[in-house]
Amino acid sequence: MIKYNLKCNNDHEFESWFSNSEEFDNLKKKNLLECIFCSSKNINKSIMAPMVSNSKNLDYDIKFFDKNLKKEKNKLLELRKYVEKNFDYVGPDFSKKVREVFYDNKNKKAIYGTTTLEEREELAEEGIDLLSIPWINKDN
Ligand SMILES: [Zn+2]
Repeated sequence: MIKYNLKCNNDHEFESWFSNSEEFDNLKKKNLLECIFCSSKNINKSIMAPMVSNSKNLDYDIKFFDKNLKKEKNKLLELRKYVEKNFDYVGPDFSKKVREVFYDNKNKKAIYGTTTLEEREELAEEGIDLLSIPWINKDN
């Protein structure tokens, strides 16, 4: 079983379990995925949440991307490449790692990974800001 954070085209976020990643793709293809809030069938998966390091440049770049995020897919692919190159992937351990980075001043590295909505809310309460980005597949 695999849990994805899903988001509809009206920015509703929710979680859903799938037996594997193909199941998600199949359901999406058959239009069987539906937003639990507005019943939209325009659902996308797997929000990744990069942690922005202290570096001002990095911060600037991320904001730049953030502004243009919804414009085009190419930007998202660029962003994905950028994140993969500059951030350490920590996977589902993200919320744990992000705390380590956040509370350790010597260890300001940029990481990315997946979180649940719940974890993100907890982190936000602790003052840890995360940026969610739609994670686009290179091949579709
Ligand atoms: Zn919705």
